[in-house]
Amino acid sequence: MNAPDPHIRHVRAAGRAPIRQLSEATANRIAAGEVIERPAAAVKELVENALDAGARRIEVTVAAGGRTLIRVVDDGIGIPAAELPLAVARHATSKLPRDDLGDIRSFGFRGEALPSMGAVARLAITSRAAGAPEAAAIEVVAGRVGPVRPAALARGTRVELTDLFFATPARLKFLRSDRTELQAIAAVVRRLALAEPEVGFRLSEESADGGLRTLFRADPDPADPLAARIRAVLGREFLDNAIAIEAMRDGLTLTGLAGLPTYSRGSAGQQFLFVNGRPVQDRLIAGALRAAYADLMPRDRYPAAVLFLGCPASEVDVNVHPAKIEVRFRDPGRVRGLILGGLTQALAAAGHRTAPAVSAAALGAFRPGSGGAAPQRPAAASLERLWQAQAPLPQPGFADAPAAPAGLSGPDAAPQAEAEPQAEPPLGHARAQIHETWILAQTRDGIVLVDQHAAHERLVYEAMKAAAAARGVPAQALLVPRIVEMPGGAAARIVEQAGALARLGLEVEPFGGDAVCVRATPAPLGTCDVDALLADIADALEEGAGDALGARLDAVLSRMACHGSVRAGRRLSLEEMNALLRAMEATPFSGQCNHGRPTWIALSRADLERLFGRR
Ligand code: ADP
Ligand code: MG
Repeated sequence: MNAPDPHIRHVRAAGRAPIRQLSEATANRIAAGEVIERPAAAVKELVENALDAGARRIEVTVAAGGRTLIRVVDDGIGIPAAELPLAVARHATSKLPRDDLGDIRSFGFRGEALPSMGAVARLAITSRAAGAPEAAAIEVVAGRVGPVRPAALARGTRVELTDLFFATPARLKFLRSDRTELQAIAAVVRRLALAEPEVGFRLSEESADGGLRTLFRADPDPADPLAARIRAVLGREFLDNAIAIEAMRDGLTLTGLAGLPTYSRGSAGQQFLFVNGRPVQDRLIAGALRAAYADLMPRDRYPAAVLFLGCPASEVDVNVHPAKIEVRFRDPGRVRGLILGGLTQALAAAGHRTAPAVSAAALGAFRPGSGGAAPQRPAAASLERLWQAQAPLPQPGFADAPAAPAGLSGPDAAPQAEAEPQAEPPLGHARAQIHETWILAQTRDGIVLVDQHAAHERLVYEAMKAAAAARGVPAQALLVPRIVEMPGGAAARIVEQAGALARLGLEVEPFGGDAVCVRATPAPLGTCDVDALLADIADALEEGAGDALGARLDAVLSRMACHGSVRAGRRLSLEEMNALLRAMEATPFSGQCNHGRPTWIALSRADLERLFGRR
């Protein structure tokens, strides 16, 4: 423990001073410490005011990272001359007409921003209220409010903040470089531009010689405002590498776009989160976003996403922090469940789609370089990422499932050493993967083509059957139990077999009416589409209604296996392909898939020679 600060001891020793009301200027300066923490915070408050005023165009100009100048010009409803003194007074706002903090529909509501800025800088507001014959202006310098004067302005409001923090030199010292502050300002403008796709934004920097440089510009596109705005803020590439998110649960909605796992970023800078249209930096939402990608992305990578969470105003409290970028939810678990569930489902539905950005890079890299240069190999890191996004999810407690083997190596893994002729395995050695669907292997006497999905499905099925017969298939608890609506008696069919299904790793409970609550899924399947799985199982149970329970459960297992298998379209390394071939050789019935189709076909040397007319 540190000794008490001698200065504080001195204050205590000096005896008690009477309580007195702080001056307005001091109170404002204290508030400013929280509201206007840095130039970007002032930009945020001013742009939010313009948006609250219904502006269609907002121009932001800054100089020296916002330290010497922040100017925000809008074409909104303006402020009547008579109200200008109130606009810069503390706790004065036009946005809480009924003093109801439970129903906030504007960005602002605290009535603190303008007085805070006036307390720590020079603030000049010029405004012309809609319909007013002329404009008026007011100035506040380090807390001193000047008179209202007539001024010239066609419409809207122009706020100029100069010499930020000149009245609080301590704060001035904490500012970072102009460049860093400017970056923070640009980030704020981009976030708000995403929040309001139908408003035009421009951010410019004024240089010392008065020249203007546009840093960001976004004009509204009536055809598809949000898509156009996302393109303007995050870039075309994000749009090409993202999937649509649309989820709804208990009155909460989640919409937006989430990047494919292979489109991972080095920071959280491409995560834009909004709650009821307000940009937020919320731990709960960011945590749920991270959790949704946890198994799909290396630990040090971040997903890109634009997510809009909608909920009744009564479900969220935005009055948590003066900067209003943190929120509290009445039911955090529900919010997490919605985000995690919505994202997981969308990502699962995207299947093994990989980011075109990565695939294109990988494929392009295999083309011979121009000018006779050696072909470029894709960076090992990008291949690893490509692979990780495609890898099956971890399968805890099921080490003996012949899933894709561990020891992930990219396609550039060294080919397996040539085996001795007498040790040649029946299905041969993998040589290539064709169309990400078939494995081409060379055998002693010819070639073998394997349908990777069909083969793997069979292996999973056989392994699950063996596990079920021995000690039961291990279950993997869902983070959030999933409620599945199953009309037409399907729910009852499933619940009836809950005990038997539990041995297969599927834990279900009745949830009333036509719904089933799923608590855990078979671990060997990894993360799977629970709804589709249940629908499939209900079908299997119905089809086999007359059969003995054992046969029906085999049918169920077979359906399950299909949900957990390597899909056609997944790229495999030689090592994995060889592991699959070896597992097939060791597994009964591996010659046909669960649907009875062959898992592999062979062509002998003689067959090949005949095909080419050599015989
Ligand atoms: P708040 O936004 O929380 O109400 P502010 O201090 O930011 O508090 O603004 C005080 C008031 O000034 C607002 O309630 C609004 O009536 C008025 N005002 C501020 N900026 C603008 C603007 N750009 N256009 C119109 N009115 C504005
Ligand atoms: Mg405000």
